[in-house]
Amino acid sequence: MAHVAGEVTEIEADEAGAIAALRLRDGGRVEGDFFIDCSGAAAILIGAHCGIAWIDRSDVSFNDRALAVQVAVEPDSPIASQTVGTAHAAGWLWDIALPSRRGIGCVYASSFMSDDEANRVLADYLRERIPGAGEDALAVRQLRFATGHRERFWQGNCLAIGQSAGFIEPLEASAIVLIELSLRALVENFPASQATMDLHAKRFNRLFRYRWERIVEFLKLHYVLSRRDEPYWRAHRDPATIPPRLAEQMALWREQPPSVWDFPEVDEVFPAASHQYVLYGMDYPLPRPQAAPSQAALAALAAVQERARALCAALPANRTYLSAMAQAA
Ligand SMILES: Cc1cc2nc3c(=O)[nH]c(=O)nc-3n(C[C@H](O)[C@H](O)[C@H](O)COP(=O)(O)OP(=O)(O)OC[C@H]3O[C@@H](n4cnc5c(N)ncnc54)[C@H](O)[C@@H]3O)c2cc1C
Repeated sequence: MAHVAGEVTEIEADEAGAIAALRLRDGGRVEGDFFIDCSGAAAILIGAHCGIAWIDRSDVSFNDRALAVQVAVEPDSPIASQTVGTAHAAGWLWDIALPSRRGIGCVYASSFMSDDEANRVLADYLRERIPGAGEDALAVRQLRFATGHRERFWQGNCLAIGQSAGFIEPLEASAIVLIELSLRALVENFPASQATMDLHAKRFNRLFRYRWERIVEFLKLHYVLSRRDEPYWRAHRDPATIPPRLAEQMALWREQPPSVWDFPEVDEVFPAASHQYVLYGMDYPLPRPQAAPSQAALAALAAVQERARALCAALPANRTYLSAMAQAA
C-alpha cells in the first residue's frame, strides 16, 4: 500500500466514463479501479467530474453559517458531561467542554440574521456564561456551509464519503456517523468484480438516500416543535418547509409513539427512541397510557432510579477520570 500526498488537479476517464487516474499538481499520476471522493465541499470527483446533482435542502434546514471560538479553562475546573445547545433568535449555540478549553459556537441562518448580529449573540453568551472570558479578544472563526446532499453517492467507480456526499447543519452531529456507516457499507460489500459494481452502487444509493432524508427530517423535527415566535422559528413551522413524510409521521405520532414501524431499516441513524426523546422533551401530545401504572411497574422504576443514583454517586468526576486515562496512556 502506498500513501501519496498531493493536490488533485485533473481527472482522467476511460472510454466508458469511469475514473481511470488522478493527476496531481506535482506531476504525479495515481491510477485505480475504485476512487473514494473525500474532498469535502470541493467534491472534485462526484460533483465536478461525475456531475452528480446536489439536492439543496435549505428550504427545510435554514442554517448556513457558524461562528466558532475556543475558550481556555482553568486546569482544575469541572468538565461538563454533555454538550449544551441553546436556541437563539435565528439558530442555536453549542458549548462543548474539553479538558483544556470549551468549544463554543453560534450556528445561524444568514437569511434571518446578519453576521454582526450573530457575533453579538455569541459575545452575549460568552459574557453571560463565562465571565472573564474576554470575549472581545477571542479569535472567532466563521464557517459557511451549503445544506444538502448528492442525488447519488456512488457513481460508476466513484464513491463520495463525507462532505462531498452532503452536509446538513451540525445540530445532531450526524456527519461522522455517516462517514463510518458509508465505510462499513463499502467494506462489507466490496465489489469483487467490475460486473457487480452497478448493483452495489444501486443498493448503496438507495440506503444512503434514505439515511440523508431521515436526517433532514429528524433535524427539522427539533425546529417544528418549538414555540418560539421569532420570524426564523415561525418559518420553520410553516407547513411549506416541512417534508411531507415528517408531516405524516407527526400526525401518526398523535395516536401512537414513534416505533420501529416508522424506522424499519438496519442501523437507523436516529431510531424511534431518538424521536421519542425530542417529542417528549418538547411536550408533543403523544398518547399517554390511560391506566395508572401498576404497583409492580412503579417498584421497578423506583429500583432503576435508585440503582442509577448509586452508580452516579460512585463515578469519578470527568476531569479525574480523563486525567487518570491520560496518565495511563
Ligand atoms: C460548525 C460545525 C460543527 C460540526 N460538528 C460536528 C460534530 O459534532 N459531529 C460530526 O459528526 N460532524 C460535525 N461537523 C461536520 C464535520 O466536521 C464535517 O462534515 C466533516 O469534517 C467533513 O469531513 P470531510 O473529510 O468530508 O471534509 P473536509 O474535512 O473538508 O476534508 C476535505 C479534504 O479534502 C481536501 N481537498 C479538497 N480538494 C482537494 C484536491 N483537489 N486535491 C487534494 N485534496 C483536496 C481538503 O484540503 C481537505 O483536507 C461539523 C461541521 C461544522 C461546520
